[in-house]
Amino acid sequence: MTAQTFQPLKIFNTLTRKKDVFVPIAPPYVGMYVCGPTVYNNVHLGNIRTFLSFDILFRYLTHIGYKVRYVRNITDVGHLVGDGDEGEDKIGKMAKLQKLEPMEIVQRYTNDFHEVTAVFNLLSPSIEPTATGHLIEQIEAVEALIEKGVAYESNGSVYFDINKYQAGGNEYGKLSGRIIEDLLNETRDLDGQAEKRNPLDFALWKKASPEHIMQWESPWGKGFPGWHLECTCMSAKYLGKQFDIHGGGMDLKFPHHECEIAQGKSLTGEEPVRYWMHTNMLTVNGQKMSKSLGNSFLPAELFSGNHELLEQAYSPMTVRFFMLQSQYRSTLDFSNDALKAAQKGYKKLANGLRLAKMLTYTHEDGVNADDAKKADIEKSIDGFYNAMNDDLNTAVAFANLFNMLKYINMLNTGQLKSVALGEAVFTSLKEKFVIFFEDVLGLKEELAEGHAILDGMLKLYREFKLSQNYEKVDEIRSYFKNQGLVIRDTKTRIDWAYEE
Ligand code: AMP
Ligand code: ZN
Repeated sequence: MTAQTFQPLKIFNTLTRKKDVFVPIAPPYVGMYVCGPTVYNNVHLGNIRTFLSFDILFRYLTHIGYKVRYVRNITDVGHLVGDGDEGEDKIGKMAKLQKLEPMEIVQRYTNDFHEVTAVFNLLSPSIEPTATGHLIEQIEAVEALIEKGVAYESNGSVYFDINKYQAGGNEYGKLSGRIIEDLLNETRDLDGQAEKRNPLDFALWKKASPEHIMQWESPWGKGFPGWHLECTCMSAKYLGKQFDIHGGGMDLKFPHHECEIAQGKSLTGEEPVRYWMHTNMLTVNGQKMSKSLGNSFLPAELFSGNHELLEQAYSPMTVRFFMLQSQYRSTLDFSNDALKAAQKGYKKLANGLRLAKMLTYTHEDGVNADDAKKADIEKSIDGFYNAMNDDLNTAVAFANLFNMLKYINMLNTGQLKSVALGEAVFTSLKEKFVIFFEDVLGLKEELAEGHAILDGMLKLYREFKLSQNYEKVDEIRSYFKNQGLVIRDTKTRIDWAYEE
């Protein structure tokens, strides 16, 4: 057993601007809300980075014993082009362009999102609520905010009243660090601003123009909910008026999350969220990957290599490994070189996984205990936990996993005897390697389903070798090579492995 000298789990909290020890409101339960995709288009790799980061958090919290309720919504109304209070609904606009029903757009891209998250081995959330499925809750929240005096109707729309909120002793801007005066200077003179008492007031409910397709009846006439309201209503409904963790990409800090705090605090009098977590961006040549900049790849383009920025195809687990090699709060720049290196790294670990599952403890006489190696293995296991506990530092976690891999490879070649480690350390190395790889980091062996065929081919290989039919032996070798595999033919064993 390892020494269990772990640091407590710390999470960088955007609200306090430091790493805070994670203490849930009602352990062992943890409530976690992540802003999901706006389903008007295919998800790109940048979006995946954010959802992957929270997949790691979900997996890790579960691994260390918490019972997590993970809510990740689907935004299917209210998110306007430009992310502000004016303009077309992103989904409505796409529906017009493609001459489809808005709900057809929503379904198409929700399906795409689910397919892509499954390919990258992201776990499904516990609840995946949609904004259009919670219109009643949103209308009720608008009514409650008007009643509390922090919202007002204006020309069929309802706005949140920033001045009233501030007058109540609250600080709009405290999450993102924005200063009200600066925000006012930045605010452009847009249509609709005349309806607002303060240009910073944001829409809770918007009156729909006749050409706006997605609209519903409300106490203020026909309209649709403001983008920020859905997350407040759905998180409160499923996680309570105050919950543990709220996450999203850092581009959502302002205005989206700032507005969520203002709404939640005004509705219940409580800080809605204890730990706010924000992921950094996936960039391409230093620029945020985004659809509007035209520098985004779709996962399908990565898997086929069919994109002018791609030198070759990359597999889903290579991409997952690539992303996890940096901690979620640092930027991650896409490059072919980095992905090629990731491909090598992933294959090394995947080979280690097969070996770890196959290795058995063998009693042997005359082998001395190797205390230095035993201690180093325990240090790596603890190091993995300490890295994860340090604000999910997956980069350092991988370094520890690679150190564990070194010993697995030594055990495999016979350079290290299992007895030298003793049964406890041997078992812990083997089991933790598999758990860290599969359960915590969510990696998997990509050819897992093809094992039976490969094993059958190896059987033929052995037979041809015995009968000295070297032409067939070479044929089988090239069959493996074409699939990125090698036959490892050693004195003690014949096996296949991923070509590193
Ligand atoms: P959206 O569908 O635009 O609302 O975005 C879904 C999520 O992806 C949000 O949390 C965004 O912050 C995040 N996101 C968008 N672009 C990137 C990027 N280049 N890198 C990381 N996360 C991103
Ligand atoms: Zn949200």
